[in-house]
Amino acid sequence: MDCIFCKIVKKEIPARIIFENDKYLAFLDITPNTIGHTLVIPKKHINNFVEQSSDEAAKHIKVVQQIAGQLQNILKADGFNVAINNGQAAGQIINHVHWHIIPRYNNDGLLHFAHSEEAKSKLDETLKKINGQIK
Ligand code: 5GP
Ligand code: ZN
Repeated sequence: MDCIFCKIVKKEIPARIIFENDKYLAFLDITPNTIGHTLVIPKKHINNFVEQSSDEAAKHIKVVQQIAGQLQNILKADGFNVAINNGQAAGQIINHVHWHIIPRYNNDGLLHFAHSEEAKSKLDETLKKINGQIK
């Protein structure tokens, strides 16, 4: 399979690895949003977040939590964002599930998600659309 993250797992292409165990790998993003921007992946190829079993997802996020706190301390960051871009519309470019850990620094200038006036005007409509269907 032609997956760049699988190639990083197999050490076929280099990466700046900051953590590794038998099942997970964490490495610095090559185009970081902030200093220390890290990607955490399972070594086993899975396309995206929804294709992970709940057990796999739980184990994955545990590793993310473990790394994020340490990273914040080591880099003396003031906080961090963790995020998954799921699907092309959400900005997923690499189809090998990965959590982003983005250390945040006071006044780092990184923009948050913009608020949507349209979504705000449709809050009641949105609630009606969803209501009762989430199990
Ligand atoms: P996505 O947009 O799919 O959520 O995130 C993919 C991330 O992978 C991007 O932030 C991008 O910079 C990073 N990336 C893509 N190719 C490579 C690579 O070869 N090495 C590393 N370290 N990061 C990569
Ligand atoms: Zn892969």
